[in-house]
Amino acid sequence: MPCAVHPDAEPVAKCWACEKSLCDECHAFDVDGQPACAACGADQRGTGEAIGGAQLAVTALGYLGFLAVAVSLFKPRPIVGGLGAIFAIAFGRAVAIFFKPRVVVRRRRVEA
Ligand SMILES: [Zn+2]
Ligand SMILES: [Zn+2]
Repeated sequence: MPCAVHPDAEPVAKCWACEKSLCDECHAFDVDGQPACAACGADQRGTGEAIGGAQLAVTALGYLGFLAVAVSLFKPRPIVGGLGAIFAIAFGRAVAIFFKPRVVVRRRRVEA
């Protein structure tokens, strides 16, 4: 199957997500090392950024939530802040591991 956008161009790859044939020009991204078209690559990149943002928010909220609970239970002590930070970082990591953001590499600039 020829490239969907450039019927005359030699297809060099197939999009990992939508399975469209891609010529070199349309092979815009690599997602986890697999070729992706411009639309699917941009999509994955948006998802990755959303996960990154969620991870930050969860880490911050986890920290504040832990502090709120720990301080009310144990009274403010230096150890409580330290434990809260460890807990929050672990919590944020868990989010990243759970959602597994893909590694998206832009190969070239794509003209719209
Ligand atoms: Zn695609
Ligand atoms: Zn093409």
